[in-house]
Amino acid sequence: KAAMEKVIWRRSMQMRSQQQAWQESPEGRKMLEFRRSLPAYKEKNALLMAISNNQVVIISGETGCGKTTQIPQFILESEIESVRGVLCSIICTQPRRISAMSVSERVAVERGEKLGETVGYKVRLEGMKGRDTHLLFCTTGILLRRLLADRNLKGVTYVIVDEIHERGMNEDFLLIILKDLLPRRPELRLILMSATLDAELFSSYFGGAPMVHIPGFTYPVHTHFLENVLEMTGYQLTPYNQIDDYGQEKTWKMNKQAPRKRKSQLTSAVEDALRAADFKNFGPETQESLSCWNPDSIGFNLIEYLLCNICEKETPGAVLVFMTGWDDISSLKDKLQAHPMLGDTSRVLLLACHGSMASAEQKLIFDEPEDGVRKIVLATNIAETSITINDVVFVIDCGKAKESSYDALNNTPCLLPSWISKVSAQQRRGRAGRVQPGECYHLYPRCVYEAFADYQLPEILRTPLQSLCLQIKSLKLGSISEFLSRALQSPELLAVQNAIEYLKVIGALDEDENLTVLGRYLTMLPMEPKLGKMLILGAIFNCLDPLLTVVAGLSVRDPFLTPMDKKDLAEAAKAQFSRDYSDHLALVRAYEGWKDAERDLAGYEYCWKNFLSAQSMKAIDALRREFYSLLRDADLVDSTTTTCDSWSYDVHLLRAVICYGLYPGICSVVHNEKSFSLKTMEDGQVLLYSNSVNARDSKIPYPWLVFNEKIKVNSVFLRDSTAVSDSVLLLFGGSILRGDTDGHLKMLGGYLEFFMKPATAEMYQSLRKELEELIQN
Ligand code: ADP
Ligand code: MG
Repeated sequence: KAAMEKVIWRRSMQMRSQQQAWQESPEGRKMLEFRRSLPAYKEKNALLMAISNNQVVIISGETGCGKTTQIPQFILESEIESVRGVLCSIICTQPRRISAMSVSERVAVERGEKLGETVGYKVRLEGMKGRDTHLLFCTTGILLRRLLADRNLKGVTYVIVDEIHERGMNEDFLLIILKDLLPRRPELRLILMSATLDAELFSSYFGGAPMVHIPGFTYPVHTHFLENVLEMTGYQLTPYNQIDDYGQEKTWKMNKQAPRKRKSQLTSAVEDALRAADFKNFGPETQESLSCWNPDSIGFNLIEYLLCNICEKETPGAVLVFMTGWDDISSLKDKLQAHPMLGDTSRVLLLACHGSMASAEQKLIFDEPEDGVRKIVLATNIAETSITINDVVFVIDCGKAKESSYDALNNTPCLLPSWISKVSAQQRRGRAGRVQPGECYHLYPRCVYEAFADYQLPEILRTPLQSLCLQIKSLKLGSISEFLSRALQSPELLAVQNAIEYLKVIGALDEDENLTVLGRYLTMLPMEPKLGKMLILGAIFNCLDPLLTVVAGLSVRDPFLTPMDKKDLAEAAKAQFSRDYSDHLALVRAYEGWKDAERDLAGYEYCWKNFLSAQSMKAIDALRREFYSLLRDADLVDSTTTTCDSWSYDVHLLRAVICYGLYPGICSVVHNEKSFSLKTMEDGQVLLYSNSVNARDSKIPYPWLVFNEKIKVNSVFLRDSTAVSDSVLLLFGGSILRGDTDGHLKMLGGYLEFFMKPATAEMYQSLRKELEELIQN
């Protein structure tokens, strides 16, 4: 033991002298000087004291004050100075992989080290850490995964959960687990960090844990809303009130989970704004996009205008543009690069900042550009709080955000754009006032801003809980509803019950809430269970390629565009792909065509001709690869198959697999003389969106449709459907593959009886008998 202690002491002394040597070197001194200028530095002693005296501490402070880069370092440095360095192990979680990577890199630079020495990072599929790593930045998902193997976090001395104000599902989930862990590990320290001042909630959750606030300073920011921006552009104002019912719903989809009341308030606010404002002279392209009020697309013209304006100004300073997602970023970037002034690299340094960029690209964001060059960064909400760009003076905010992280344990791939909250809008605005007074342009009217929610609802309260429930089961955390009742803000019981019921119906949980084999596979795939199911079966039946397209297509913005003034042309274009009575397969055909065209460098033309969104196509392409690698990780495809390129295009088989995924989203096709009507058990009569390929046909030669999603406007509308036969529904609806057929058959039987299809009901009876015998044997 004594020998061991000696080794520890010697190694710690070594660490200490290394640290001192760096801090005394010229570069080290300069770095230290910079660090001392950050607001967090002034609180260093108070912070360290609070941490050493309390098991849990909550720290809040403005973005950029030095929470993420400094506080873990303060802890590490003080451990090293007290010659205990080797004994300490700090884990700092980040909601996104890109921040884990960029922050660890920055901290390594500040310590004069290479990444992977004392400081490392770990994200899904990537990491840099060594034997001597004592400070590890990782995604929340990685820490959750580690807890799966090591419930007590043996050897970890500090856990820092960063960006808790975002209230992501993973972070809320992690806090429940850590709260359970603290009594078992009295020496473990937990530090929560937030960029907003809502610390009380967390403090009372942890029994009145102390809060430390880091005071900061920002310069005033001059705020412009859309009406002010429009005035600047000199466009005339006349009413615009041609709003298409469906188009409108399309944009408001992001508020689906919001209470109806708020949604309608927001909608009428926008309508009012549209009536009040005129965009007449913006050209046909703008008119189309306005019909669905997408700030990104109206924004494209406006952003270009504003950027030109800013670049002509004397005031130096970088421009930060908040966009919805990386597909918008990349197409805006293309557009700007073609611009005579903005595309001129001797005048403008145009950069993108989003969750999936390469790390070399990341570094450029932080660098100061050469004299006379204006830095313009197109970013997602990642630049709101997790990444700080120093020299920003101008902010352009499109007002929307989209969840797009794909960590292994990330539960909700909510890829739909939604309006941000007031707090987020303020954060975005605040980015402009870091170094001097700044300007912020919001690309939405003030009345839309007024209708924003104050805070965004925590993810756990606004997204379906199915995947979270699966994770709770895979971490063996006991009863789902009991566990979730201990959350910071517990989801409604009904939401929990719905999720459990759904998981039972699709066969991921058995009657006693235990994970089935299917459930276990689904926990390895960070996506909605229905999408996971399609991929699993696609892999097994070796028809993965088209299913990758289907699943990726369900995760991006609808690639089939329906501009209002060219609706017929657009629908006719979609009809070319529609011979299978399936929107999902129409997408597969459209994607295949794009892929061929892209090979001849004619992808854009192809999209243009066929009313397809080129960004969506590119996004699908990227997601397909991502999903494929997830399947590989889960051992669902083996490395010898090259399914990603080879084709298996048996429409009947695909129909079956799509049905397997989308069940219980089924509706009955009831034919009458001229056409047909649709019914589901829960809603009665339902309708199809007019751009569905099935809406154009007066006869569908199948008795059922399976659908991905239904939306209630005045009536219930189904989006994206695929027609299936009785036998497919009987064999692939629900969960026959899990072995437990009883509940499933009862449910299906219920459906069949409800719709009174006697022939099918008979078939169902005999199938049921057969299956029961099979199972008994
Ligand atoms: P917080 O977590 O409180 O938002 P950070 O610790 O991320 O703040 O950043 C503190 C400061 O460190 C920033 O204001 C910025 O000046 C600087 N900084 C952070 N990351 C980098 C980087 N990669 N390159 C250069 N400077 C950086
Ligand atoms: Mg931070």
